[in-house]
Amino acid sequence: MSAAGSDCLFCRIAVGEIPAKIVHESENVLAFRDINPQAPTHVLVIPREHYPHAAALAAGRPEVVAELVVAAGVVAEQEGIAESGYRLLFNTGEQAGQTVFHAHLHVLGGEWLGGLVG
Ligand code: C5P
Repeated sequence: MSAAGSDCLFCRIAVGEIPAKIVHESENVLAFRDINPQAPTHVLVIPREHYPHAAALAAGRPEVVAELVVAAGVVAEQEGIAESGYRLLFNTGEQAGQTVFHAHLHVLGGEWLGGLVG
């Protein structure tokens, strides 16, 4: 799938048009701090290429889904939360609370996060 370009906020971050606090990057993925953190560490890991959500990315470039998870692990090590634990989350679709329709993996940690529905 081709880049959505100027219509997509995260595409614009990926090409450097909009600033972000980048914490890790590689050929296919970029990781930056969420502007509205929900935990002491809250980083978003995105594919550079535009896919609207994780399911579309998995259908089109399944190997990049693995790269997102690997990058999340690198970020967790950098942030010092790999040992204590962290949460990986893809909101997929409006009813799940997805607000930016460029696939992104939330990396959350640095405090007790509790149970998923707790
Ligand atoms: O999964 P969801 O689509 O709700 O997550 C989008 C995330 O993108 C939010 O956590 C929001 O704070 C973040 N965001 C950001 N930088 C922006 C716009 C949104 O980090 N410029």
